[in-house]
Amino acid sequence: MKKYDLAIIGGGISGLSAALILSAGIKDNESLKDKTIAIFDAGGSDALKAKFFNAPGVKQGTSGKKAIKKLVEQVQSYGIAKFHDSRISEIIKGEDGFIIKSKKDKEYSATNLLLATGFRSWDIKGLELPIKPFTRTTNNSRVAIEHTDYKVSDNVFVCGLLADVSSHYPIVAGTGAQVAINIMHEWTGEWIVIHDK
Ligand SMILES: Cc1cc2nc3c(=O)[nH]c(=O)nc-3n(C[C@H](O)[C@H](O)[C@H](O)COP(=O)(O)OP(=O)(O)OC[C@H]3O[C@@H](n4cnc5c(N)ncnc54)[C@H](O)[C@@H]3O)c2cc1C
Repeated sequence: MKKYDLAIIGGGISGLSAALILSAGIKDNESLKDKTIAIFDAGGSDALKAKFFNAPGVKQGTSGKKAIKKLVEQVQSYGIAKFHDSRISEIIKGEDGFIIKSKKDKEYSATNLLLATGFRSWDIKGLELPIKPFTRTTNNSRVAIEHTDYKVSDNVFVCGLLADVSSHYPIVAGTGAQVAINIMHEWTGEWIVIHDK
């Protein structure tokens, strides 16, 4: 079984934003060149219901479907992240990383996890996580995970709505970008800056 260095669970706005910055960092930095990442997504991003007028840099009136498609293409242009159209049902922590099980009974393996599944529910079995109510809404059915600077525990990170930030494209995308930089900092001991000219 192939083992990824990082499995991103959830390929909505925040998970794709993380994948984008990670892909750029892996491409540009010799010390990261062997790192492998995968995105597992069930295809139900909240953005798919949206029409964006207030998302910076996104053409006004762009449908969420188109915005997600563009983001996927942007990530794919680096040829680094492997995409899996899968709903993850269970994650088991072993001595040497995580076994990730899809609803269709496929198994994958990863050293690190980035949880980016949004705030609607947490229904992945197996992991013991500090789940708490999402605080930035009056709707008390939403969930989040406690973290410190997007780190939940050793080798487990969180971003997007699941990190208890407000539900707006630039905010969730920013958490994905930040956690990507934090993960690359853990991998290299350096603060990676990716500025193309
Ligand atoms: C109707 C509507 C209108 C909106 N309008 C705007 C707007 O005008 N401007 C603005 O800035 N924001 C808007 N938003 C908010 C914006 O879409 C969200 O803040 C954003 O999509 C959240 O990003 P996320 O990555 O946290 O979660 P999501 O984008 O929801 O992504 C989570 C992903 O995780 C996947 N997932 C969940 N569980 C699993 C699992 N077990 N295995 C694999 N994958 C899983 C889901 O399928 C989904 O693709 C709107 C939202 C809605 C619902």
